[in-house]
Amino acid sequence: MTELIDASRASADDQLEELDPLEIARWRFNRAREHLVGFKRGLIQFFEAPKRSIAVCFPVEMEDGSIRTFHGYRVLHNQVMGPGKGGIRYHPDVTAGEVAALAALMTWKCAIVKIPFGGAKGGVVCNPKELTEVELRRITRRFVHELGDNIGPHTDIPAPDLYTNEQTMAWIFDTYEALHPGANSRPVVTGKPLDLGGSAGRRDATGLGAFFVTERFLELGLMPNLVGIDGATVAIQGYGQVAKAAARAFRDAGALIVALSDSQGGIHDQDGLDLEAIADYKREHGTVVGLPETRTITNEDLLGLECDILIPAALGNQIRQDNVGKIRAKLLVEAANAPITPAADDILSARGIFVLPDILANAGGVTVSYFEWVQNIENEKWALEDVNRRLKRRIRRAVDDVVRCWQELDLPTDLTPERGGEGTPVAVSRDRVDLRTAALVVAVRRVARATLERGIWP
Ligand code: NAD
Repeated sequence: MTELIDASRASADDQLEELDPLEIARWRFNRAREHLVGFKRGLIQFFEAPKRSIAVCFPVEMEDGSIRTFHGYRVLHNQVMGPGKGGIRYHPDVTAGEVAALAALMTWKCAIVKIPFGGAKGGVVCNPKELTEVELRRITRRFVHELGDNIGPHTDIPAPDLYTNEQTMAWIFDTYEALHPGANSRPVVTGKPLDLGGSAGRRDATGLGAFFVTERFLELGLMPNLVGIDGATVAIQGYGQVAKAAARAFRDAGALIVALSDSQGGIHDQDGLDLEAIADYKREHGTVVGLPETRTITNEDLLGLECDILIPAALGNQIRQDNVGKIRAKLLVEAANAPITPAADDILSARGIFVLPDILANAGGVTVSYFEWVQNIENEKWALEDVNRRLKRRIRRAVDDVVRCWQELDLPTDLTPERGGEGTPVAVSRDRVDLRTAALVVAVRRVARATLERGIWP
């Protein structure tokens, strides 16, 4: 069953603590809109709602012989810059609204790193922890079948996200190819295993990208109380694909990883965690919690740790109005999508704590997904060093573009290193434009200009 859904209800209004992802996305877009002068109102309106939203519902026979019904979504937000691009997540909390909000983020993310893709996202409401591999494969194949030609190498290209991985992408490719024999279907999905056309570096790209973003941002010298990564203390929420890669990249650059967590809780050691010991322990026990010589903490405790850099790399809405007060980090890097609510954003900004926003900080994943897509079309294999060199170059340019825009929009005359001083947060007024708004402005301007250059149809 395939039906069109309208994921664009209700206008964004001033709210205290809105946790609905779609409302949050709208609210943020509206804030950026004030700075989008020179574009016609109707053009900007076009970006508010997805171009296409699909909801599917399908039965799957479980291994015990029972039959369960699953709901899935695929939202294509915008295709002006190229085919839709975005992950597919498997999680019990997936909703049409969340998928729509994340699809819009993808449009802006791709525009920030200047890759020729639009934005899309997908998800299936399910709990992978309670499903067998065979059941996950059946769900994936049936979901892809339901989506039919709404995905494709030149129309909409999925990738991994929460609780989906290279194996899931392999099943998507295999199913799509079975439905489209005789064509090169590898570019229909990215994040595939290396044997099936995956790119070197894709698995680590989001975490490594978050590292490159942070490295470049600190090089720009805007934070007098944090001059570089070497010696910095870093707490990371999560222990998935993104968190693990980020941890390694920061550790390799001389940072101390003081905390990590998974859904069962976290571990803390102010002298720095041993990442290899954690990997072994997680493999054996299914959680990081309990690793000898570490302190067990909750995910909430982790957010409030004394550290230089805090990296939420798990779920959305983790830092909210009700817990933002406990944040003691100097810099937040959104490796996860939408981990900070707008109310928390404003409080952090007022306290002089910078946030490197998701559409910039985790754009490394989609960047290497683009490299994978190019390699699949060209039938090429790039070396890891080549992939990472290209990734670094694009990410650094993106950071520079966002910071330049931020400075144009709102650099207060008294924001100087001398005023901030060592260890003293720079004073930032509540009304200041933040890096998230600047990043959105960069992205929307690019997509708006491209829309006009293409010419409004007819
Ligand atoms: P993953 O499935 O590999 O890992 C998810 C992690 O979240 C796991 O460590 C899990 O233990 C942890 N987690 C689950 N529930 C938790 C809870 N209640 N508290 C704390 N931790 C919890 O997913 P991933 O691919 O690493 O994605 C993580 C985030 O990064 C998501 O927000 C995703 O949208 C975003 N992201 C991922 C990519 C990518 O390339 N994978 C790209 C861009 C953004």
